[in-house]
Amino acid sequence: MATLSRLPRLLVLSLGGTITMTGSGTGGIAPTLGAAELVAAVPGLAEVAQIEARSPFKVGSSSLTVENILSVAATIEAGFDGDIDGAVVIQGTDTIEETAFLLDLLLRGPKPVVVVGAMRGPQQPGADGPANLLAAALVAASPAARGLGTLVVLNDEIHAARFVRKGHTSLTSAFASDNGGPLGLVAEGRVRLFTRVAPLDLPPLAIAGGNAPAVALIKIGMGDDGRLIAATPGLGFAGLVIEGAGAGHVPGPVAEIVGEVAARLPVVLASRTLSGPAFERTYGYPGSEIDLIGRGALAAGFLPGPKARLLLMLALRAGWDRPTLQKALAAFA
Ligand code: ASP
Repeated sequence: MATLSRLPRLLVLSLGGTITMTGSGTGGIAPTLGAAELVAAVPGLAEVAQIEARSPFKVGSSSLTVENILSVAATIEAGFDGDIDGAVVIQGTDTIEETAFLLDLLLRGPKPVVVVGAMRGPQQPGADGPANLLAAALVAASPAARGLGTLVVLNDEIHAARFVRKGHTSLTSAFASDNGGPLGLVAEGRVRLFTRVAPLDLPPLAIAGGNAPAVALIKIGMGDDGRLIAATPGLGFAGLVIEGAGAGHVPGPVAEIVGEVAARLPVVLASRTLSGPAFERTYGYPGSEIDLIGRGALAAGFLPGPKARLLLMLALRAGWDRPTLQKALAAFA
C-alpha cells in the first residue's frame, strides 16, 4: 500500500458495542450509532483512508454469534477480492478477542483486519472511541500491518488476535496480550511495531458453509463433581472445552467422566489461569493432564477456553478429523 498513488481504501463495519452506545431511555446506554456516524466523528480520518462504512449489526457484543462473524468475514473477503486494502471491524469490547480470533482463523491473506471498540460511550467524558477508531484505521491502512493476521487496537496498543484478552471491566487499558505482549503501538500518528507474529500454520477454514456445531465450555472449580461435563453429550453438544485448574487439571474423581465424554466427542483441555500453556507431560496423578490426555483429551496449548472453543467449533464445522485438530492445536502450543 505504500506504493498506492491514492489513499488506501478501508472497509469499516460496525457491529455495535459501547463505542456506538448512547442514552436509550432504558436506564442505560444501548447501541444507536452506525459506522458512518462513528467515522464522521473522528477528526483526521479522511486524511488516512477512503472509507466505505457499513453497519451490519447494532448489538451488545455478548449477543454476537459465530454465524454473525462468518457473515462479517464473507463481507471482508468480498471487499478484499475487490479494491479494499484493509478492514476495520467496530464492536463491543466484551467479545472482541473472540471476533478477532475467528477472523484470524478465517481470513489468512496479507491485508490487515483490525477489530476495535471503546471502553467509554461517546457521551461520556474522555470517550476513547474516536481515538481508538483513528488508531485502528492507521493500522489497517499501514503496509507494516500486512501479514500479521487479525489485530486488535485499543488504547493505542496493537495486539495479535491469538494473544489478546480483555482483562478489566472498566479501564481504557483493559486489553492485554497474554504470553507475548502487544505487537506495537500507534504514536504520533505512526504505526510502530516491536515484533511480528508468524502466520498461523493451520489448514484453511472455509467461510462459506453451514452453522457451527455447538461446543460447551466448562470452567473447573474446587470440588466440582463433573455433572456438567457428564451432561454435555446428552445436551447435544458436539464438543467440549474444559478450562482446568492450573496447567489443565480436574478433581481426581472427574477424570473418569472426562474419559467417558472424550470417547463420544472431542474434549479439549485448556487452563483457567489464562496464561501459559496447558501441560501435556508433567503431572501424573488422577485428574492431571497426563491422566486426562491418556483418556482422550487434547491439550489447547496457550489458547484460553473461549478461543479453544471457537477453534473447535470451526474444526467441527469443517469436518476435521482428530489428527488434523491435534495438529492445529499444536500450532498454539
Ligand atoms: N457491553 C459492551 C459490549 O461488549 C462493552 C463494550 O463495548 O465495551 O457491547
